[in-house]
Amino acid sequence: MGAPAAFTATAEITHWIGGQRVPSSGNRRQPVFNPATGAVSRQLHLAETADVNAAVANAQTAFQAWADTPPIRRARVINNFLALMNQHKDTLAAMITAEHGKVFTDAQGEVMRGIDIIEFACGIPQLLKGDYTDQVSTGIDNWTMRQPLGVVAGVTPFNFPVMVPCWMFPVALACGNSFILKPSERDPSPSLFMAELLKQAGLPDGVFNVVQGDKVAVDALLSHPDVKALSFVGSTPIAQYIYETGAHHGKRVQALGGAKNHMVVMPDADIDQAVDALIGAGYGSAGERCMAISVAVLVGDVADKVVPRLAERARALKIKNGMELDAEMGPIVTREARDRIEGYIKLGVEEGAQLVVDGRGFKVPGHDNGFFTGGTLFDHVTPQMRIYKEEIFGPVLGCVRVADFAAAVDLINAHEFGNGVACFTSDGNVAREFARRIQVGMVGINVPIPVPMAWHGFGGWKKSLFGDMHAYGEEGVRFYTKQKSVMQRWPASIGKGAEFVMPTAK
Ligand code: NAD
Repeated sequence: MGAPAAFTATAEITHWIGGQRVPSSGNRRQPVFNPATGAVSRQLHLAETADVNAAVANAQTAFQAWADTPPIRRARVINNFLALMNQHKDTLAAMITAEHGKVFTDAQGEVMRGIDIIEFACGIPQLLKGDYTDQVSTGIDNWTMRQPLGVVAGVTPFNFPVMVPCWMFPVALACGNSFILKPSERDPSPSLFMAELLKQAGLPDGVFNVVQGDKVAVDALLSHPDVKALSFVGSTPIAQYIYETGAHHGKRVQALGGAKNHMVVMPDADIDQAVDALIGAGYGSAGERCMAISVAVLVGDVADKVVPRLAERARALKIKNGMELDAEMGPIVTREARDRIEGYIKLGVEEGAQLVVDGRGFKVPGHDNGFFTGGTLFDHVTPQMRIYKEEIFGPVLGCVRVADFAAAVDLINAHEFGNGVACFTSDGNVAREFARRIQVGMVGINVPIPVPMAWHGFGGWKKSLFGDMHAYGEEGVRFYTKQKSVMQRWPASIGKGAEFVMPTAK
């Protein structure tokens, strides 16, 4: 592959309301950075409550006609969008790298995983089929159907500016809802680009809207009576706030939160594979993945074999501008996030963990102002340390040594997060027991980042998810629809006289 085209547009990033770009009603603006250079590349309009109200009003007006459009015709619009996303996937990947910093090839993978969900949503006529019982009682039939909720909203994090919105809006739209996306303020460009593609695909104006912004926009969505449901993905404190506030306002909410994902390496594991997996899952996307592995749980004597090899590999990571095709790791999303991560490294040293590789102060030639840090490796991390308990969300891998399998399972089950987990072993029974006993929503057996495919649904347990239903898959269809039960009989089969007792099957 030749060098990809960089995303260089220097525009003001506005909202998308009623099928067009709309500036903010107020004057609040926020710079968007290129994390590799540290330069400001765009100015983002931050929504005021009035802008959110305008988006909801547009979505509410557009809703009924879209809901009444037969599912197969809605699916055809989604199918047109799928083709456009495939056509422009490298443009989207370059946008991601320009604003998030992750390496271009990883950004391409993100776009593809988003496209998977769009493909899933194309099958909506099959997914919306109801249940029917003929003759529940003499002359009476009963069926259930699923209907869209109305205006629904999605609030998304910086780390997957294409994939995570795609967890939500293709399914929500296919189900017949209108949608308002509030993307992350760090990397907002893909949201507008996808809005334009949806319009090109034939989606009626007002069915999909974007409001850019911060807490003001989110709070306006949370309290608006016409917003019927809200999907959130982000950090745990905000996920909990969204869940509680949304519920207080009578909304359906799914709020996916933070993570601290463990990978167990059993003594019988293939050590080469385990080291490869830890390096890719620990340092890929600079550890800014909710499914990144941040804790290696090394069982028995495995640590003495694994830690030196991890150290060698962490020191050799190719860290550079993500647009360079041989880059393995790019910069951190913001200067503040980089400083927070390096603050955790200082804390780990103070807490007594052994700093094997120190990524602090890493410089990339020609990118002096970029938000870079190197890969960091700690050994002898203990469960009492804050670097173990808290989500660092950066390229910092901590090794915890445990005596046996049971201790590994107890350690993981005691952690407050439960998003993803992995176990590397060559013993089928260990693998089976691990998958059954572990208190985590997504489990990988010799798979370090077990992000479920589009038709299986994504969701963690414990403080990694507030709400009942996982994102996308059939749970996503359930989340974006409500069930209605209809019972019918026709005059010819109706008997004479009022009934005063609970009807039973006759
Ligand atoms: P974040 O919680 O800071 O922001 C997420 C969204 O919430 C953004 O759109 C932001 O504008 C909004 N927001 C921020 N503060 C708010 C407030 N006080 N009130 C209302 N809205 C607010 O998260 P982030 O830094 O963008 O993303 C990283 C986090 O997301 C990590 O914790 C990561 O684990 C998590 N994440 C989880 C999953 C998952 O599936 N569980 C997936 C991706 C990311």
